[in-house]
Amino acid sequence: MTSPVAGAGSAPHPPDYAPVPRSALGPALNDQGYYVGRVERNLYWVTDGVYQSAFLTTPDGVVLFDAPPSIGHNLRRAVDEIAAANGVSNTVTHLVYSHHHADHAAASSLFDGDVARIGHEETRRLLLRDNDPARPAPEVTFADRYRLEVGGERAELAWHGPNHSPDNIYIHFPGHDTLMFIDVVNAGWVPIYNLNLSEDVIGYMGAPATALSYPWTHFICGHLGRLATRDDVAVHQQYIADIEASSREALASVDPVPFYVAAGENAWAGVKGHLDAVTERAAAPIIAKYTGVLAAADIEVFTTTTTFAIMQSLRLDRGPSGPVHP
Ligand SMILES: [Zn+2]
Repeated sequence: MTSPVAGAGSAPHPPDYAPVPRSALGPALNDQGYYVGRVERNLYWVTDGVYQSAFLTTPDGVVLFDAPPSIGHNLRRAVDEIAAANGVSNTVTHLVYSHHHADHAAASSLFDGDVARIGHEETRRLLLRDNDPARPAPEVTFADRYRLEVGGERAELAWHGPNHSPDNIYIHFPGHDTLMFIDVVNAGWVPIYNLNLSEDVIGYMGAPATALSYPWTHFICGHLGRLATRDDVAVHQQYIADIEASSREALASVDPVPFYVAAGENAWAGVKGHLDAVTERAAAPIIAKYTGVLAAADIEVFTTTTTFAIMQSLRLDRGPSGPVHP
């Protein structure tokens, strides 16, 4: 059967986006579609070019941090490859969840048996709620801080409030000069829609400063193909700060009255006209400034949806939401 739609069944043609800056890209993947590299000493990271995971090899076994399903069985291959090369155990004894989201955790069920699952107490609550067999709930939980010590190695887990998700934690490796903190900063790339699909805008905006308050040189951010640096976090902070400033300017300078007058009795049409105009005015200079600096900055919907979320948070969380009626 032939389709009446021209080109149906063939790959869609992507729009003509700006070239991805070479600095946003990481090492080449192997034939199986992954790269595993040393972060420092016995701490390793794994990527498929889009998602990232990490693991510690110790004399007492391997500690795995996140299990993205897109990397999937390549996590086992990466651990086996490194364990064999270094003559250490490849048994995964501990699995730490950064947060409950399936895209970073749904390969965790591939590691069963005696593995100890560790996560924030809210991660446990949300995983019990979601009842996904691919993501068994952690049985070892904590509220604020947890020190994980395995085979003489240490990871400090900490919860500093909601940000991307209610349960997203900071994982500090003091003996490896490394911080792992997922889904807030994308190394070399803009956040995707709505501040990386984040639930708490104010928490998301403040999280990079918390990340920078730790001592570290290497940053495992969860996306995309390379590790991040302190400079990457600073560029991300500037992008968000620019959106905040631009949103304030647009909120103050776009007059809502004509939109409501034009909308007549359809109040929601007035809201749409006004907020779309504010969003467009606020986002345009950000898209122009960061195209060529952060990869995918010219995919406008990412910056416009992030701008919309920040602009709404400025109104609703920080206030004022609008003038007080006389
Ligand atoms: Zn997430």
